[in-house]
Amino acid sequence: MPCFKPIFDGIDCHHLYIAGPCSAESREQVLEAARGVKDAGIGILRAGVWKPRTRPGSFEGRGAVALEWLHEAKRDYGLRVITEVATPEHIEAALRADIDGVWIGARTTTNPFAVQEMADALKGVDIAVLVKNPVSPDVDLWSGSIERIYNAGIRRLAAVHRGFATYDNSAYRNPPHWSAPIELHRRLPELSLLCDPSHIGGRRDIVARISQEALDLGFDGLMIECHPNPDVALSDAQQQLTPEALKVLVDSLVWRRTPDIDGSLHDFRLQIDALDNHILELLSERMGVAREIGAYKLKHSMAVVQRDRFNELLNAASGKAQAMGMSREFVHAIFSAIHEESVRQQLELEKMKK
Ligand code: PEP
Ligand code: MN
Repeated sequence: MPCFKPIFDGIDCHHLYIAGPCSAESREQVLEAARGVKDAGIGILRAGVWKPRTRPGSFEGRGAVALEWLHEAKRDYGLRVITEVATPEHIEAALRADIDGVWIGARTTTNPFAVQEMADALKGVDIAVLVKNPVSPDVDLWSGSIERIYNAGIRRLAAVHRGFATYDNSAYRNPPHWSAPIELHRRLPELSLLCDPSHIGGRRDIVARISQEALDLGFDGLMIECHPNPDVALSDAQQQLTPEALKVLVDSLVWRRTPDIDGSLHDFRLQIDALDNHILELLSERMGVAREIGAYKLKHSMAVVQRDRFNELLNAASGKAQAMGMSREFVHAIFSAIHEESVRQQLELEKMKK
């Protein structure tokens, strides 16, 4: 995917904010939100016109009539306006209303049929399309949806990270699992990557922290929910900020994308490269010993996987690593992967013997 255009002409696609209500509820609410967004120095207004809700009976948006309110906000406040689409009919209605961009929501990105139908409806159209991640942390599904839109000729493209559904109780509504958007960025480095801290957090008191984390990780922008009176919002009331809080947030965020002023970053990277090489050499040495153990087990007809041994190893490693300031989960993941590779190499020995 080599060539992208700016998401919106005249707006830096590596430093952008989008804000606005979860849903467009009334003309007055949209216009008031637009004023707040503009006062916070933000140039792009979001508002959901059609709301795909997890459960029936929730507010499902005002529908096409609300596009007129967005259009009015665009005209009166000079904002770009975007809304969520989930079907070709939504796209046609949005285009008729002169909307500047659309986003594909998490529930829709999950469905390749729906995404392909929308990609077909977008052929020959030059608007911004933002693709939210699918509900589950499946980077292939996310990049596949982006590819479908790209293949339809859309070049004003961005990905929006909004966290992933979770089964467990979590401090987040949708835990961020930052490694997923980072992997997407590795695969599509030229694509703008935005973060939606509102749907990740689900609570307004953690939106600022998540926003700063995203910027620290090099995200290109934020999409933040903002409502003139969040407590009475018809959807996502708990996570929306007032326009005043939005302004405070935007003024407090630090964009760390500074150039490597004195070359220190380069030096640190050289150190990291050397350490990574060292880690690889140690791993290779460890695999050598594992193969010797494999040969021994084979000779004495012993099972390759000795579960108690792995548990002992894991416990010892997690204890030590925690004392060194690393998390249990991290060490568990690393050692599970190392163990899996050792087992694979030992099984190879068995296969060679047969
Ligand atoms: C939204 O942006 O209001 C929305 C419904 O988001 P998501 O698709 O990320 O749940
Ligand atoms: Mn919402």
